[in-house]
Amino acid sequence: MKLNLNIQPLSSWVKVTHEPLIISGPCSAETEEQLVATAHLLKATGKVSVLRAGIWKPRTRPGEFEGIGSIGLQWLNRAKQETGLPIAVEVATAKHVEEALAAGVDILWIGARSTVNPFTVQEIADALKGVDIPVMVKNPINPDLSLWIGALERINQAGITKLAAIHRGFSSFEKSAFRNEPMWDLAISLKTLVPDLPIINDPSHICGNRELLPFISQKALDLDMQGLMIESHIDPSVAWTDAKQQVTPSALSEMIDGFVLRKPESKNPEFTDKLASLREKIDKLDDQIFTKLGERMKIVEQIGEFKRDNDVTILQVSRWDEILHKRTAYGSVLKLEKEFTEKILELIHSESIRKQTAIMNTKATLS
Ligand code: PEP
Ligand code: MN
Repeated sequence: MKLNLNIQPLSSWVKVTHEPLIISGPCSAETEEQLVATAHLLKATGKVSVLRAGIWKPRTRPGEFEGIGSIGLQWLNRAKQETGLPIAVEVATAKHVEEALAAGVDILWIGARSTVNPFTVQEIADALKGVDIPVMVKNPINPDLSLWIGALERINQAGITKLAAIHRGFSSFEKSAFRNEPMWDLAISLKTLVPDLPIINDPSHICGNRELLPFISQKALDLDMQGLMIESHIDPSVAWTDAKQQVTPSALSEMIDGFVLRKPESKNPEFTDKLASLREKIDKLDDQIFTKLGERMKIVEQIGEFKRDNDVTILQVSRWDEILHKRTAYGSVLKLEKEFTEKILELIHSESIRKQTAIMNTKATLS
């Protein structure tokens, strides 16, 4: 399935002065000095194409710093005049949109806490009718691809064609090294559904710390994401919000120097031939895997009939344990990760149980 969004290429609305596209700036505009000084240092790296800053901050808990408010627009504007960098800001209400437009903001983004709410997104979309401004839509906090797509559709239906998605990771019940789980497969699904939609990765909110930023950024670039939004603060240790994940402009610059930029394809005929022949091998192996799976399911059906006719339960835990142990041991000899082998076995097993349950509940054919 492909989604029908009317989208203009990223190059039509942002001038990438240095590859990859880097959108950077503080999590929050705190003071005029902090914002303008950070902007100058970012500009001086020569590697940043857009300046970002939050001025209206939707916070999880009341009492936390909720953004400096409209005055921050003037500071952003000064930073823009002095550095020549286009400016981007988060909007969460129609009023924010109106104020940002009036202040000459170049790019708007919708935050994760707004994308979750269709009423909020629709309010923003209505305020954008008849306006020609780029909008970036962050993924919702929860791992729900439809909500993300729905927000993109609402903004697109308001007539915004300069559209991008921002992948900032998803809140997860399970604790991990990340502040927000990347769940790359959701971003990949979005890319598959809307191949023309630029996806920008936000490693800052995925990582929640500085240490993992290079790893997540490189992974995003290797997955062919079209840019990175990375928070940068002149002195992260005293940042009013997201202190642990912000980096100084010079640390940002060093990190960008370490990125390896790979191309989605190569025009070298030798490379193309070799890749085609390797892919042919993969296709053959995939065919064999599915043929074998089909054969396996036929036997599963026979066992199901046999159990039904002898009044034996579908599940024998000891047999499932035996399969799991034998195969994960064999998998490890073949250098397959235990978790991978287990996931595949679980999928096969649950399909086998589904098939046998269906058979159990049909009567034996009288012969
Ligand atoms: C931000 O970009 O500072 C922000 C609040 O991000 P998110 O909406 O992804 O939490
Ligand atoms: Mn932040």
